[in-house]
Amino acid sequence: MDKHACRACRGSSGHLVLDLGEQPACDYFPRSDDPGPDPVYPLQMWLCSSCGLAQLLADPTVPEEPRGTEPAALVAQAADAVARVGAAGLLPGGAVVAEYGSPHGGSWLGLLAGRGLGTAVPGGQADVILDCFGLMHAADQGRALAERAARVAPGGVLLLQYHALSTIIACRQWNALRHGHYAYYSTTALTAMLAAVGFAPRTAWQFDLYGGTVLLAAARDGDRGDGPDETIRSLLAADARAGVRDPGAFSGLQRDVRGHAKALHDWLAQERAAGREAIGYGAASRAVALLCQAHVDRGLLPAVVDASPAKQGLRMPGTDIPVAGPALLAERQPAAVLVFVPDLMAEVRDAYPQVEAAGGRWVDVAALGSASLQQDA
Ligand SMILES: [Zn+2]
Repeated sequence: MDKHACRACRGSSGHLVLDLGEQPACDYFPRSDDPGPDPVYPLQMWLCSSCGLAQLLADPTVPEEPRGTEPAALVAQAADAVARVGAAGLLPGGAVVAEYGSPHGGSWLGLLAGRGLGTAVPGGQADVILDCFGLMHAADQGRALAERAARVAPGGVLLLQYHALSTIIACRQWNALRHGHYAYYSTTALTAMLAAVGFAPRTAWQFDLYGGTVLLAAARDGDRGDGPDETIRSLLAADARAGVRDPGAFSGLQRDVRGHAKALHDWLAQERAAGREAIGYGAASRAVALLCQAHVDRGLLPAVVDASPAKQGLRMPGTDIPVAGPALLAERQPAAVLVFVPDLMAEVRDAYPQVEAAGGRWVDVAALGSASLQQDA
């Protein structure tokens, strides 16, 4: 294999910091009657020693995940974010916006139109260039950021929203690593990437989404007088505490891969031995790596329920577990529903009261891992 060149700065010096081995493409949900085996690809995170960007090492070309229903948590966060950025004066009525969206959905354009912002012509400059989880999907990070920066009109602002690497490290979210997500940003690395295109961060807002999400506002050097504000300085300090540039800080993630997988397998086996049926909820990409690492099959987990009609009739990649519609919850009255997307917990408990009414309980899959790790510690 050729030596890896950093997706942002092209540097060749770096460390493999997280290795999940060979994994199926989590975006490719085969039909439930497709016997497999599904193709697998190495899934590894590499940390650039030069610019500090954590990134996907190998680059298999994989098809996109069918767009699911947008979680209410994501919709609420978008409204919150637009209100906060607006309150800071960065979304004036009459300004022009261009959005780089995520292939998984979640556009802010409707909210921005509601505030009186107009939409830029395709490829044209805009006062506000907004990227909400879009940039991470670009294999060539340097080029993708340069393209966005070039489209910021004089005096304009670049808004970048990302799931913070410090969160991934601190909350041990190893299954945030997935094919198709090429970069895992720290504010530190993003500051270096922005500097390479003549931009600097000015301010930021933090959200609880995914355990810790940052929306960063950057402007062209010399365009706005102010340097980075207190929020940026505290994010950089938090990065330093988490060790986002230190390969050693990632060792906990690698340990958790085994710990979390074992905790899940043990818990499912225990439930089965006790005669209690457990069903999964949330056929999300992040569930794929966990189920594969834990070697879970339909004997342990008979189905994963998902509200998205696009996923009906499919199965979880790398396993024989079918994806089922929400009607299954009423049909089977499971003793436990294992939620693979913690951000969905409040929403699904509200949406399916019949689970608890029938004596079932909702279980956060992330809590299984942390409980077992606390016991280990
Ligand atoms: Zn780099």
